Amino acid sequence: MDRSENMRAIRSKDTEPEMAVRSLVHRLGYRFRLHRQDLPGTPDLVFPARRKVIFVHGCFWHSHACKTGLIPKSNRDFWLPKLRRNKMRDRRNLEVLAQQGWDALVIWQCELKNSSAVSRRVRQFLGPNGSPRG
Ligand SMILES: [Zn+2]
Repeated sequence: MDRSENMRAIRSKDTEPEMAVRSLVHRLGYRFRLHRQDLPGTPDLVFPARRKVIFVHGCFWHSHACKTGLIPKSNRDFWLPKLRRNKMRDRRNLEVLAQQGWDALVIWQCELKNSSAVSRRVRQFLGPNGSPRG
């Protein structure tokens, strides 16, 4: 398969890291809502009472500073503007969320290799989970 087919295959699996984060956060005892369309960037996990959101980003599509996030050498004219746009959109979404008083945490796909580190970050970000309304 060529590079672009390979990338499409990766995109179709983008929900896998999201599912991993969902079950991790659920196991930690937090309640959340999914994909609030009315919020910038449609955050993957939303914690309305805490006014916090979590994004789960695939490293390629969101240009993470890791190996997977490298821009492909072939078809650069195609990928460069596309991936730059994604990155700018991400940044804008975080800015607007912050203006609206939402705290955001971004969890990268590659970070999920170390789920205990992700758990620690999530707990730190969300704080105590005593509130039944999450
Ligand atoms: Zn990464």
